[in-house]
Amino acid sequence: MTLIESLKAIVGEVNASEAELDRIAYGNAKAVVWPSNAEEVHKIVMLARRAGVPITARGAGVGLRFANDIIVDMSKMNSVITVANDYVEAEAGVLLDDVNKLLKGKVFPVQPESAKACSIGGMIAANALGIKAMEFGKTGKWVEEVKMVDGNGICLTLKGDALRHVVGLRGATGIILSAKLRLSDAVERTAELLKFNTLTAMQEKLDELKNDADVRNIEFMDEISSSLLGFGMASHLIVDYAGDKGMLKGAEAKEAWDARKQLPFVLGQKRYLNAHELQMPLESITRFLNLLRKDEVPCYGPIGLGVLCPVFRDDSSFASRTDYVYRQFNAKKRKTSNPETEKRVLELKAHYDPKNILSRGKFI
Ligand SMILES: Cc1cc2nc3c(=O)[nH]c(=O)nc-3n(C[C@H](O)[C@H](O)[C@H](O)COP(=O)(O)OP(=O)(O)OC[C@H]3O[C@@H](n4cnc5c(N)ncnc54)[C@H](O)[C@@H]3O)c2cc1C
Repeated sequence: MTLIESLKAIVGEVNASEAELDRIAYGNAKAVVWPSNAEEVHKIVMLARRAGVPITARGAGVGLRFANDIIVDMSKMNSVITVANDYVEAEAGVLLDDVNKLLKGKVFPVQPESAKACSIGGMIAANALGIKAMEFGKTGKWVEEVKMVDGNGICLTLKGDALRHVVGLRGATGIILSAKLRLSDAVERTAELLKFNTLTAMQEKLDELKNDADVRNIEFMDEISSSLLGFGMASHLIVDYAGDKGMLKGAEAKEAWDARKQLPFVLGQKRYLNAHELQMPLESITRFLNLLRKDEVPCYGPIGLGVLCPVFRDDSSFASRTDYVYRQFNAKKRKTSNPETEKRVLELKAHYDPKNILSRGKFI
């Protein structure tokens, strides 16, 4: 049997394809397969192992940068299994937006800007960071349990410390089938929209906010971003407070954050499409922003965590100097792997995917 015949034998005639259009649509895949359940995912992994063909899981494809040989599209595994008071259990292909619609009085607190489009499995595999990241952290913090098929074809349930073997590893150890996610109460914050005419003034305020126990989130928007959102040509911080310390309450606080959520799209309309997420020491931030300002590169992000996203135009000459920027400012590209990550992934691969058929090339 050929590869495609074997895939069709597993998932049925209409759920596997090597048609040119499908292959192109999935980034030059060798084949695309749409499993409907754990058993089919298991069989696909076993087939890929026997054939020595690499496979890559695809959630909603929002953050997928390249395709491997067989793309396992998880979109048909889209059932919400349980909605309980403090957790939700869902198959990997469920969109975060669909989970959000089911929740009342509770929230899944990590809401990436791609929340309307991204899948639960993709968020866990990417350990996605949401807006208000200072308060809520990354997706991994809210994952209670993951069921996956590893590269040996074994179905596993990971909990506790073992979740580190799947969260953020971009499918390199296993294909996530479903997950149990913890929920948080929907708490309202009061907020402040602060305007700064100089970066020095902003840095001073940041130092003060760092020591304020009521502060929950600090989000930065530079002059270009602020002016595109109609806030005027000055740097701004949105600050969330527990309690009623902030001047903006209820709908007003929401309005400030809603405007901020529009930023990637507003910047995109101006051809600022190339966002780099950088982690840097708080004391380097002013110097870094001054450099970006000279080159008119907009920037925003959860500055309270030391994370900033400069957004380059694709034709920006500054983009070619980002390596210099990383070195100069001791900043790290959040998603780039480093030697420690590679060593850890190698060890995990030896256990979970010794034949390296999963997400090949992502780390190794
Ligand atoms: C406009 C825009 C805004 C964004 N905003 C944010 C943001 O605020 N924060 C952030 O962190 N990211 C952001 N992203 C990146 C991306 O949306 C997120 O990483 C998202 O979580 C990806 O989800 P997805 O379902 O589309 O996954 P995909 O893009 O399909 O996959 C992402 C990775 O996870 C793996 N994967 C997917 N499903 C599974 C599975 N079931 N099992 C194992 N591995 C799997 C894939 O192989 C791939 O390596 C943004 C992207 C865009 C385009």
